[in-house]
Amino acid sequence: MGRHNKDFSEILMPEISRRASSLGTENAFVVLAEVNALARQGKDIVSFCIGQPDFPAPEHVQEAAIRAIRGGKHGYTPSAGIDELREAAARYLSRMRGGLPIRPEDVVVGAGAKPFIAYAILSTTDHGAGDEVIYPNPGFPIYESQIVACGAKPVPIHLHEARDFAFDVNELNELINSKTKLLILNYPHNPTGGSLSRDDLRRIAAILEKHPQVWVYADEIYSRLSYQGEFFSIAQVPGMYERTIISDGASKTWAMTGWRIGFTSNRALAPVFTRWITNTDSCASQISQWAAVEAINGPQDAAEAMKKSFLERRDLITKLLNETPGVKCLVPGGAFYVWPNVTEACRMIGAADSEEFRKRLLAEAGVAVLADIHFGTRVPGEGQHVRFSYAASKQAIEAGISRLSDFIKRNTKKAA
Ligand code: PMP
Repeated sequence: MGRHNKDFSEILMPEISRRASSLGTENAFVVLAEVNALARQGKDIVSFCIGQPDFPAPEHVQEAAIRAIRGGKHGYTPSAGIDELREAAARYLSRMRGGLPIRPEDVVVGAGAKPFIAYAILSTTDHGAGDEVIYPNPGFPIYESQIVACGAKPVPIHLHEARDFAFDVNELNELINSKTKLLILNYPHNPTGGSLSRDDLRRIAAILEKHPQVWVYADEIYSRLSYQGEFFSIAQVPGMYERTIISDGASKTWAMTGWRIGFTSNRALAPVFTRWITNTDSCASQISQWAAVEAINGPQDAAEAMKKSFLERRDLITKLLNETPGVKCLVPGGAFYVWPNVTEACRMIGAADSEEFRKRLLAEAGVAVLADIHFGTRVPGEGQHVRFSYAASKQAIEAGISRLSDFIKRNTKKAA
């Protein structure tokens, strides 16, 4: 056998680090690959997997990007972002949060909001020191993945259906201790669409008062998709502003996921985050930064129209899901996800759990959703759930839920 034809396993290779081997992922991307493979085989799939708006970025934002390209905005920018965007984001974050005293120098721009999850953990915990991070479960899978990769201890706090998918603040009181360095909150929430009420946030703040070593990462990426009155941040609770990292961005509000613009604000940590960015991306795309200035400062009609459309689709999908045998679905207060309870549907069709349910639903009915295990470990006593992203057309929602309903009825007959 020639030198280059050797079986890969026979070659003595350098090792991959334990850190890299243990790195988690976003299973949305794994399921998406399955869905694409089926679609390539010619299967007709209705997909509810993707966590992004199904709209293009607003026209005037596109024009701003083209102007930036034509105007020669091609180079690196400061790691924290162009002054114009830091100013616009500071004003915007403040205006949307009861006039918090956010200054442009407190704001750092990144390639999406996602990288700040790692920067926040890296900046508040030390590797192998036993530092603990509390995060919502179910939750955005990158929290746990990065906590572990950064060498901190993941401490999940369970969300409960009976509390509209908020956690019990008393449970926070039990989990928090002198080793806790960071509390990650996400409202409106991925994957449940749930939120934390002002009262919950005030009670959380009261607990944190006794633990002054704890930072808060407030993942507010869905802040503009709040359907129950004015958005309220934990940073607005007296005493919380200085220790809260506010994280928001352009992805969801202006349908700009692929443009990669996020912005974070915290007075003490802004220079630290800036240094991380110098060590990783150097800066976010300059073209996207100019587009984001326009997204924030320009007309908000497109953002408002998208929100209105998501709200209509939320009402449609929850109504249809609640008419489906074996399915119960709370009406979520924000984002574009629903998290129906399918415990009874699993029982009816003889599926062992939500993951088997999800796989069969995809293979037999051509409907793609994610299962609860893609967002953490299943919460004991809470049953089986799946996630639908309703950033899909009304026709897709009607067709998808009709297929789901037929799938359950068809298989219940078989099982009976
Ligand atoms: N946080 C949460 C809870 C999310 O759902 C997402 C996107 N799915 C992000 C952060 C990251 O968004 P982006 O990097 O596109 O700004």
